[in-house]
Amino acid sequence: MADSKRDYYEVLGVSKNATDDELKKAYRKQAKKYHPDLNPGDAEAEAKFKEVNEAYAVLSDEQKRAQYDRFGHQAVDGSGGFGGGSPFGGGGYYSAQDIDLGDIFSSFFGGGFGSSRTRNGPQRGASLKYGMTLSFMDAAFGCERDISFNKEDLCTACKGSGAQPGTTPETCPSCRGAGRVQQQQQTLFGVTMITKTCPQCQGRGTVIKTPCTACSGKGRRKVKKSLHVKVPAGVDTGEYITLQGEGEPGTNGGGYGDLIVEFRVSPHEVFSRKGMNTYCDVPITMTQAALGGEIELPTIDGSVKYTLKEGTQPGDTYTINGRGIPSRSNPSMRGAHTVRFVVEVPTRLNDLQKQKLKEFESILSEKNYAKKKTFFDWFKK
Ligand SMILES: [Zn+2]
Ligand SMILES: [Zn+2]
Repeated sequence: MADSKRDYYEVLGVSKNATDDELKKAYRKQAKKYHPDLNPGDAEAEAKFKEVNEAYAVLSDEQKRAQYDRFGHQAVDGSGGFGGGSPFGGGGYYSAQDIDLGDIFSSFFGGGFGSSRTRNGPQRGASLKYGMTLSFMDAAFGCERDISFNKEDLCTACKGSGAQPGTTPETCPSCRGAGRVQQQQQTLFGVTMITKTCPQCQGRGTVIKTPCTACSGKGRRKVKKSLHVKVPAGVDTGEYITLQGEGEPGTNGGGYGDLIVEFRVSPHEVFSRKGMNTYCDVPITMTQAALGGEIELPTIDGSVKYTLKEGTQPGDTYTINGRGIPSRSNPSMRGAHTVRFVVEVPTRLNDLQKQKLKEFESILSEKNYAKKKTFFDWFKK
């Protein structure tokens, strides 16, 4: 009669040698599909849901899975020919809810898989953020910096195990290494067995008899870490680089987090930037503006000769392509540099200078002041 049941592997749609991960995935998929909350009043879905849970309860337990593989359903469902009750410890009976419902609910309600991950699965370590202030030029052309920061790292004495060197963590007696224990609980479906994180080992499956004296058994210590950082050319305020694996260590075999180096670029006294483009104001004299002539325009890497044209007006601009900030992805590509001419009006003139300027002004005519003429023509109207 036991064999009238569907094969557990078939129920979950996995092969006989499915890994724990494959089982878990298959289970989640099936359990979601048939969950009573998503199929209200559907008796068939409810039956399937129970079947799926039963299959997973057995196959996710290493010991029970081995028994099942050898003896089939009768080994685990308690109704087989072993004289009533299962010979395999406990009540031997797996109700539909003999699984961690928290798993399913948390995935339904957007809780992610947090609760189950923190319990057993590998969890990646925390990523850390480091703020780095750069001068305008260091940000533009890149630089190298030595930085140091505090982080939590594995204790070097016990290599993160938390056990005093020479000793090893022992299998937890409460859960016999499983990290989980079963407990009776009142649920929607009546009193059922529920799987919980083992309170003695917090799900690790091991306990430490002799804690490492260097880290008090925590397996981790605060350390000061130094790193040599290469800052690429072209970074801007708010941008960052990721130094993979330089964060804090994970748990249960999860990898290290990253170190995120975020930049803040100090303003420059002459240059400003917007993305890859740079800008600066160039003061010229009234006479230079009027007569034009050779001048030098500053850029972020050296000056460029420029012939100022006659009659340059205040606020006129000139753009030099390829002399702005290098591109982060391709430093041979650069933004544009734009200069703006600012005419500086002389101040604190002496009597002679004033006299000469008045003489000069007296010989100018309307045609020398195109804007002024236009403006007053309009004003008179
Ligand atoms: Zn230690
Ligand atoms: Zn335990």
